[in-house]
Amino acid sequence: MACIRLTRRATLLGAATLLAAPRVRAQAPIRLVILGGGFGGASAARFARDRFPEVEVTLIERSRTFLTSPYGNLVLGGKRRTEDISFTYDALARRGVRVVHDSASAIDAQGRTVRLAGGTAVPYDRLIVSPGIELRWGAIEGYDEAASARMPHAWLPGLQPVSVLERQLRDMPDGGTFIMAIPDNPFRCPPGPYERISMVAHYFKQAKPRAKILALDAKGGFSKQPLFMDGWRELYAGMIEWVPVSNDGKVTKVDPAAMEVITEFGTRHRGAVVNVIPPQSAAKIALDAGLAGPAGWCPIRPATLESTLVPNIHVIGDATIAAPMPKSGFIASSHAKHAVVSAVLLLRGQTPPPPVFFNTCYSHVGEDYGISVAGIYRAEGDRFVEVPNSGGVSPRSETMTPERRAEHRRLEALYADGWYASLTREMFGLS
Ligand SMILES: Cc1cc2nc3c(=O)[nH]c(=O)nc-3n(C[C@H](O)[C@H](O)[C@H](O)COP(=O)(O)OP(=O)(O)OC[C@H]3O[C@@H](n4cnc5c(N)ncnc54)[C@H](O)[C@@H]3O)c2cc1C
Repeated sequence: MACIRLTRRATLLGAATLLAAPRVRAQAPIRLVILGGGFGGASAARFARDRFPEVEVTLIERSRTFLTSPYGNLVLGGKRRTEDISFTYDALARRGVRVVHDSASAIDAQGRTVRLAGGTAVPYDRLIVSPGIELRWGAIEGYDEAASARMPHAWLPGLQPVSVLERQLRDMPDGGTFIMAIPDNPFRCPPGPYERISMVAHYFKQAKPRAKILALDAKGGFSKQPLFMDGWRELYAGMIEWVPVSNDGKVTKVDPAAMEVITEFGTRHRGAVVNVIPPQSAAKIALDAGLAGPAGWCPIRPATLESTLVPNIHVIGDATIAAPMPKSGFIASSHAKHAVVSAVLLLRGQTPPPPVFFNTCYSHVGEDYGISVAGIYRAEGDRFVEVPNSGGVSPRSETMTPERRAEHRRLEALYADGWYASLTREMFGLS
């Protein structure tokens, strides 16, 4: 091992570096503030509390109850109840996270404070922002918040819970058509609309066997498409029609009074129930704080997840543009851990380790029928890259005997349940 003799000059330089280190308040605990208590934010709060007990952790979240989007589709399929996907922040508070239930109205990056709608301000040394998404009202002509009461999105549970769509489906006559308008990339949860189609079909098969599903898509293909389509053929033959953009699948206008959607080339489709999932952007607070670029998503440094636009702020989860990583709850919680480590080490003047991010997106296609896509990602300079051969998708049905296929799909549905239970218990501090 090489020995270094410290000269007086080196010692003085060291002292100067320490003085210039980003910690401002000598001896006071680091104040880590997390904005947004969803998959990214709650995971960050829990992880920071456990990993760095000396750090003061504050979580700002406007809702007292968080309804998860994951497993929301299962409520439509009758496989879960709203109570099963509802969580509070009580256990996180008991673990020592300071939970502030208020809406953040502004971020003062200069003064390092988050201003709250209630009139107070929360100071921070580093801020982790995980506010999720905003729906772009008006991006589809006629689709605004008022229209969404008649044609629900049910895509942002804090704004409109999935139970609104569930009620409409329960009231729909047998033989009616359920229309779904699906946006182009990027949007929250790439396989989410197709799991939703599956769960609605699962419900129809039992309660309204003459009903039809028309899926109008602004894209030409989708996540796990061959697997979903295998499942639809096996379980719901003749019930689902998927129309890609090339066949005039892009919805550009809605007429809520007539319960009609109008496509790019002017075709009108009338539904008994219409679910519009509009184009999206990072949440309003991220846009207002100058964290988002022109496309409406927040650019970040892959090595530390710091904003490239505003200093001392890390942005994680769906609000970021971090392709090829999907906008998923699993990725948001994986971001969370690295953001916490990066924030604390940077405040201590240390270099964070290189990140590794994990994702598995499970989807339920039917009763005891699950499929998945997995990937591992790392930072490479100013990009995120998928680690070659690290992930993949479930095998296609045609590659297995019927018995093997049934067992495989049954096991993946069980793994999905295990994933959901363990992640939600972890992030809300329940175990
Ligand atoms: C139907 C559907 C199914 C899905 N299924 C899966 C799945 O199976 N697996 C999976 O991994 N992902 C799934 N997802 C995606 C997953 O829900 C998101 O990727 C995840 O929620 C992103 O986490 P986040 O922290 O970025 O945002 P969120 O979880 O949405 O959390 C953001 C939080 O910030 C709060 N907030 C926002 N602005 C403010 C403010 N100004 N002040 C205070 N609080 C604020 C919000 O109230 C919210 O609680 C699904 C999504 C949908 C819609």
